[in-house]
Amino acid sequence: MKRVSIFGATGSIGQNTIDLIARAPQDYQVVALTGGSNITRLAADARALGAEIAVTAHEDLRAPLMQALEGSGVEVAAGPAALLEAASRPADWIMSAIVGAAGLAPGLKAIEQGGTLALANKESLVTAGPLVLETARRHGTTLLPVDSEHSAVFQALRGEEMSAVERIVITASGGAFRDWTREQMARATPDEAAKHPNWDMGQRITIDSASMFNKALEIIETKEFFGCAPDQIEVLVHPESLVHALVGFTDGALMAHVGSSDMRHAIGYALHWPERRALPVERLDLARVGQLNFRAPDEARYPALRLAREVMAAGGLTGAVFNAAKERALDGFLDGRIGFLQMAEVVEEVLTRLSSECGLTNAALTLDTVAQTDQIARKTADTIMAERQ
Ligand code: NDP
Ligand code: MG
Repeated sequence: MKRVSIFGATGSIGQNTIDLIARAPQDYQVVALTGGSNITRLAADARALGAEIAVTAHEDLRAPLMQALEGSGVEVAAGPAALLEAASRPADWIMSAIVGAAGLAPGLKAIEQGGTLALANKESLVTAGPLVLETARRHGTTLLPVDSEHSAVFQALRGEEMSAVERIVITASGGAFRDWTREQMARATPDEAAKHPNWDMGQRITIDSASMFNKALEIIETKEFFGCAPDQIEVLVHPESLVHALVGFTDGALMAHVGSSDMRHAIGYALHWPERRALPVERLDLARVGQLNFRAPDEARYPALRLAREVMAAGGLTGAVFNAAKERALDGFLDGRIGFLQMAEVVEEVLTRLSSECGLTNAALTLDTVAQTDQIARKTADTIMAERQ
């Protein structure tokens, strides 16, 4: 039996992970399930899967969670320290699927166990890539990518040498607004941005797809995970979302990963790795699909892509600034403080102000410096958004 824990169990990735585990309950022993506000979901899954412990990130939800799990035998805990404690409980396979920078500390704690970490939380690599990789190396932990593009690259690289890799191409659907004009995008509402044409994901990543901030994070994630140079990473708009990534080799060959837009592909690959097992996903009928389209992204429409390249060039704590400013700008868009296109303007302004103010590129990368930088970047983003109102 594989001992598994799922951080962010109540979210989109968490629920897809639970779907796979619940299909073969005899194969898994569930250690920890964690969530945020969705106590009902967390309690129902913890009960159904017989989890050892259920943790909510919010202290004030401890009592309702205890009530919901009364008589179940599932231990209950709440708050950030409880998340870390759950992450240090022995498990063979841990899913890191909390959304945002909040996923970094529990992820790092889980890595210290020396097992396998399935990494959906791309923010961990964006904010603290070298720290995450070094911690994994030190503890002999296997890191497996869960982001669909990175899982695709990982699969295309199996049995290959990085020295034979010329380029890595990650695809982007273009999100909800791929056919909208800039004028239309300027007036877009959160509800419109949260409708993804192909993927069913959490609200925040779906809006990040429409702004291409998601792809910007993924460019950085690619650099960190695969250790390639920034100029080896390309983005291709592919409206069908069926080719997830391609790896170009020195002999000119391109290996593409093709599959339905279902995160259970990437989650299942990470769950069963190093084996490849049957998964309950749609089999593509390419004759019916007929056409696959590709085009270069228009960087004028999507400044987030240019910003990602600037962040990679600067290095150090710049990724933590970028991610925190992006998270805060997204909050600002969601609560109506700024418009859709202003998210990139706010992020760029935060990067400009902070790069001249503190030694972002040379500072040591630790959990503390990342957390402090994150806080400063959020405050700066709030100041800039207030100035614009
Ligand atoms: P969701 O918003 O659907 O779920 C997020 C999860 O994190 C929920 O369990 C939520 O709890 C929990 N959570 C939210 N805030 C906190 C916090 N402050 N502390 C602890 N837990 C918290 O997100 P997704 O599943 O879409 O995404 C999860 C991660 O995976 C992200 O990093 C995303 O970029 C990445 N990813 C997602 C993909 C997808 O298809 N969805 C594809 C590729 C990567 P609750 O809901 O109970 O409040
Ligand atoms: Mg992705």
